[in-house]
Amino acid sequence: MNGVKRLAGAALGVLLLAGTAQAASPARSLSPEVRTAARFDAVAKNRAQLRLFLRAMPKGGDLHNHLSGAAYAEDFLAWADADGLCVTTSPLPAIVAGPCDAPGKAPARDLGKTDPTLYGRAVNSLSMRNYHPGADGALPSGHDQFFSTFGRFGLAGDGNLPAMLAVVRDYAAGDNVSYVETSVNPSAMSDLVAPVRNTPWDGDMAKALAALEPGLPAMTAKARQEFDAAEAEADRRQGCLAQKPRTGPCAVALGYQAFALRVQPPSVVFAQLAAAFALAQADPRFVGVNIVAPEDDPVALADYALHMRMLQFLHARYPDVKLSPHAGELTLGLVAPRDLRFHIRQAVEVAGARRIGHGVDIAYEDDAQALLARMARDKVAVEINLTSNDVILGVKGADHPLALYRQAGVPFVLSTDDEGVSRIDLTNEYLRAVTEQGLGYADLKAAARASLDYSFLPGPSLWAAPLRPVAACARPGPACDAFLASSRKAAAQWRLEREFEAFEKNF
Ligand SMILES: [Zn+2]
Repeated sequence: MNGVKRLAGAALGVLLLAGTAQAASPARSLSPEVRTAARFDAVAKNRAQLRLFLRAMPKGGDLHNHLSGAAYAEDFLAWADADGLCVTTSPLPAIVAGPCDAPGKAPARDLGKTDPTLYGRAVNSLSMRNYHPGADGALPSGHDQFFSTFGRFGLAGDGNLPAMLAVVRDYAAGDNVSYVETSVNPSAMSDLVAPVRNTPWDGDMAKALAALEPGLPAMTAKARQEFDAAEAEADRRQGCLAQKPRTGPCAVALGYQAFALRVQPPSVVFAQLAAAFALAQADPRFVGVNIVAPEDDPVALADYALHMRMLQFLHARYPDVKLSPHAGELTLGLVAPRDLRFHIRQAVEVAGARRIGHGVDIAYEDDAQALLARMARDKVAVEINLTSNDVILGVKGADHPLALYRQAGVPFVLSTDDEGVSRIDLTNEYLRAVTEQGLGYADLKAAARASLDYSFLPGPSLWAAPLRPVAACARPGPACDAFLASSRKAAAQWRLEREFEAFEKNF
């Protein structure tokens, strides 16, 4: 709250510069930013008004987003319908392959019309909608229900990459988000991984990489073709080809993070990570590398330190590739205390993470203050997913460590994690940041800027120092145009500043 107070210094400067001539009309003499903060303060206690305000607010990037978790259950059911798949009737409806005329199965085709009750149960089963522990076969914890949805809708995602890219752009545009950094693997990755699935892990990473290296160029080439085709098809479906300049969903930029699933055997995790690094090196659309899946899984816990050493090893081979591993998506009671003590530290110190996903268990880490100080010093940003942490871990409100990170000066961004599974959007996360975490307009604006500053978009930053543009963009003109054309990051940052100008003019 208190955006007005926090921006008062800037307002004072404006007033002093303006002199006494404008003193007669103080409201007009305030900067648009201060007037906007005042509007924010006026609506902050009314959720519907606040929602309206925050939806229109430019938010920059959503940096923690899983492509398969971004689509809603209704999207998966529509793709299942189009692809001739079936929905099981019990215990929990799931999307499965045909034929559909077997006991316990119904065709997904027109399911909303032929069996609205099953359709409704399927939406619940494929998401967190109406989740009540144990009801209608729902799993006994939010954590289990959440992660198990992926297995029930996954099949409908197969072959639907263009549609998934289109929906993620569509949701982002509706949320005034201009960039989404989404975790997605090309299907070619499985060609590389399949042969090592039964290879025992002997710990020799150099040998394991040497065995994979001959297959990497073909894998990256096939991935490039897959994403070229998928992006072109998404553009076609959303009518982007005729747009100059692009607007709405067509103007949402995408960056991809390839990832490893941390619950797999070491040989598989290493092969997935090697593929992810090779993709990030070869294709500028793949902007970073991640490691995902439940961090409290017994395999994920047992191999955590090994996975961080794998990231360290591959990072040394590919030093330009940026990492944003999920780390510290844990809390007291979910795992034994020993597993709460080192995950974030190893992600930062061993793997060399530029950002970390979640970081919820920071207060349980050994020497957490020093780790926080290091993250603040080295500008290792934390991706905050308020709804996801509430639903999966039961951590929210005053129990959430966002205040601790902010106090320590660690940069943070607000992100969605799995907006479709959680049935949220980024506006909702901004709203929670206000109502549960006490952030004000200035804080949210800083978070939106951070979401591009700490994005893995290639190119130098627009900012030479906080809010001081590089010399080329001290004023608009040909030199700035040339600079923006050379840097996707700076171009996105420039766009956000223009969006803020337009937004703040409204107040
Ligand atoms: Zn995540």
